[in-house]
Amino acid sequence: MAPNEVSGLRVAWEHPMPGQAALPARCPAVGRQPEDLISLREKFVEATLAASSDLAMAVVRTAPSLAALRPVPRRVLAVFAHPDDEAYGCAGALARYAANENAATVLLTMTRGEASSMGPQRGLTPTQVGDLREQRLEQVAEILGLDGLIVADLPDGQLAKLEFRDLAAPIQDVLEHFEPEVIITHDARGVNGHPDHIAVHWGVRWTRGGTWGSTCFTRLALVAYPPETCEAAKPRLLFPTANEDIDVSLELSAAEIDAKEACLRVHEGLITVRPVPGDDRPSRPPVEHFDLFDECFAPPLSDLFDHLLVADAPGT
Ligand SMILES: [Zn+2]
Repeated sequence: MAPNEVSGLRVAWEHPMPGQAALPARCPAVGRQPEDLISLREKFVEATLAASSDLAMAVVRTAPSLAALRPVPRRVLAVFAHPDDEAYGCAGALARYAANENAATVLLTMTRGEASSMGPQRGLTPTQVGDLREQRLEQVAEILGLDGLIVADLPDGQLAKLEFRDLAAPIQDVLEHFEPEVIITHDARGVNGHPDHIAVHWGVRWTRGGTWGSTCFTRLALVAYPPETCEAAKPRLLFPTANEDIDVSLELSAAEIDAKEACLRVHEGLITVRPVPGDDRPSRPPVEHFDLFDECFAPPLSDLFDHLLVADAPGT
């Protein structure tokens, strides 16, 4: 298999990212988009134009106003494809910053997760699955104490077929109102190669640089799993990040581990962070790692806000 091919999908995760102008119009994993997606996108554009709210795609909004959070010194936005990605990837980090009165945490989930295999397994319609997973996400937001939760109702399983402009619209909307300093999202291989994860990664990167809109967030933190974690996760597929590329390692406290376990239980009911004697359920190490895009720290930082440079305003 060529180094940039995953499960038959050609993805460009080694793209040098010289600037937004060099990015293709849509995720490099796919070609033409089918008619149903074109009509979905038209509906989205209509909804955006017709909406009086500043977050047209939001179906859930727990924050009274994202703009009201801007005076908070440390603002972190997590952007993931599906309900549950946040729990696996960075629930401990979100719990940490949510508990910090000098930080504001917002989660943007791009789909309602309606295409989950849970539907056929339990005899649920896609709408019912989406409703259920969205409810679980609300529970997670409550457990973590997030300042904001936004669920964008983009089509689950189809994100890689959307044009970046459509994919990035909800992200850009949140960026403009919340102005996060740190964004956490999927890595370029989508952690496990899921096309939706890869598309979200590219969608976030597409918003970076201020070409579309004026927002330029400061730090992009990609969820990373070191090789030993990926080895231990087999046969589950996780793409490792080389240890030298890990720039932040958060050692989770007992309270953060408890919060992460609670989130995982809400979504799955099956997974623990700490191994329990006599319990052979899969476990995860109580450390969350991140690869900072375009930054390199060795040894890894112990906080996502350490050594954070203030971005120049676009055009300066
Ligand atoms: Zn996912």
